[in-house]
Amino acid sequence: MGEYIENPKLVGSNIVACFPQGKPCPIGCNQCYATDGMVYVPMTQPNIPDPAWAGERIVRMNDLGDSNVERDKVINCGVRYKHTFFNTSIPRLDFPGPVILTVNPKEEDPETWTLPADHLAVNLMAVRVRVSVTNADSAAALIRAWTREKVYVLLMHMRYYDAAPGEGYECHKHIVNDCWQPTWTTRRHVEHICGVGHDHLLYVCEGSCRDCHQCESLFWLCKRRTELGA
Ligand code: SF4
Repeated sequence: MGEYIENPKLVGSNIVACFPQGKPCPIGCNQCYATDGMVYVPMTQPNIPDPAWAGERIVRMNDLGDSNVERDKVINCGVRYKHTFFNTSIPRLDFPGPVILTVNPKEEDPETWTLPADHLAVNLMAVRVRVSVTNADSAAALIRAWTREKVYVLLMHMRYYDAAPGEGYECHKHIVNDCWQPTWTTRRHVEHICGVGHDHLLYVCEGSCRDCHQCESLFWLCKRRTELGA
């Protein structure tokens, strides 16, 4: 295993990334930068921080993959850290810690989206909803379905590596790669449709973890709520 490489997006935040699988994620979410050879580490080797180095920081399992893929390996790796949360787009949530669930990995296909189950997992830290100008109306209904159940929602503006989905996008660098991103006006438009500002459970991923800290807040809220060791 090579030397650990920090995710540049997380530098300066209280979160560090962990990628135990060391192979490309098979799920293939649309526009996922981790499937396109554009990442900060080789996708053919694990990238695992030393627990002593991670210390009090929160370790995000599966920066570049899904915690339900090779889940035993992910869990065995994750439990070595003092603070850990998991990430998945597969609605299996029995992890030994908080978990973020992406509920629309195929953001243009509502038939595939995950709706709240009858019994929600107590360790569900938040759900992630992928939004753009082309899916905002239907994504708004998905968001409401989750916040009605008192689940925090993280709204993620889609970035496009091949082509913009329509008007209102501009191409510039995000962390390390050029991509098509919504303009400020487009972001506000999409957020308005999705209900931002009218629902205290709805957060917007701002794209710079160092300045944002929302995942950290959601992690501690979940820990406190579930008494998973906080
Ligand atoms: S919500 Fe904030 S802390 Fe979480 S991934 Fe987005 S920018 Fe980073």
